[in-house]
Amino acid sequence: MLYAIIADIHSNLTAFKAVLEDIEDSGGVDRFWCLGDIVGYGPEPCECIRLLKSLNPVCVAGTHDRASVDKLSLNFFNPVAAAAVEWTREQLKISDIAYLESLPDKATEGDFTIVHGSPRDPILEYISSISIARENFTYFSTGYCLCGHTHIPWVYQLDENKECASTRFSANVKLAVGRNRVIINPGSVGQPRDGDPRASYAVYDDEAGIIQLHRVSYDIDETQDKMIKKGLPMRLISRLETGS
Ligand code: ZN
Repeated sequence: MLYAIIADIHSNLTAFKAVLEDIEDSGGVDRFWCLGDIVGYGPEPCECIRLLKSLNPVCVAGTHDRASVDKLSLNFFNPVAAAAVEWTREQLKISDIAYLESLPDKATEGDFTIVHGSPRDPILEYISSISIARENFTYFSTGYCLCGHTHIPWVYQLDENKECASTRFSANVKLAVGRNRVIINPGSVGQPRDGDPRASYAVYDDEAGIIQLHRVSYDIDETQDKMIKKGLPMRLISRLETGS
């Protein structure tokens, strides 16, 4: 089976559609795993929720998903992010709210634990260093963990001697998932922050035991134009073209 691993769509429908087209062009997948933050920052929250739902994914809640349905305080957000959450709250329809409220903090699929932030704190914690990753390996019992939240594609591996290694997850690298336990971040569909503005996602092939990262160009101008029309903060608009 093939699994698409997508994270941090952030209401960027243009980027999301480009990723889905790329997946289709490569022959499609059997199942979608979504690591949360469907909404927030971007201009089309309802459309992204509905498109995601149509894929019947396994999906967990992200920081912005919780805050957008008033289940997480805006104190956890910087002023620009909080402004986008407040705007998102005004857009959501009852069915969108019901979907976001239904999302769990954590899911398990085979040998994978799926979270947004970290296994220790699925909504808020960023796995952004080896020391944080090492601690988090004790908070899940499966071999592998998938997380988003940092918007940066990254891999942490724990070997038999409990040594933790950290590497950037680059496009087209075939990462073998085998004996070593791993925590993998597939990057962000809708707001990449690794200096590469292209949408990011990964595909897991369970027969080959390989996860591969993909980067996809999309029409950034189109998303930015929609954000300008909807009055979203300039900082959120400009960062899309630099992937920062
Ligand atoms: Zn995010």
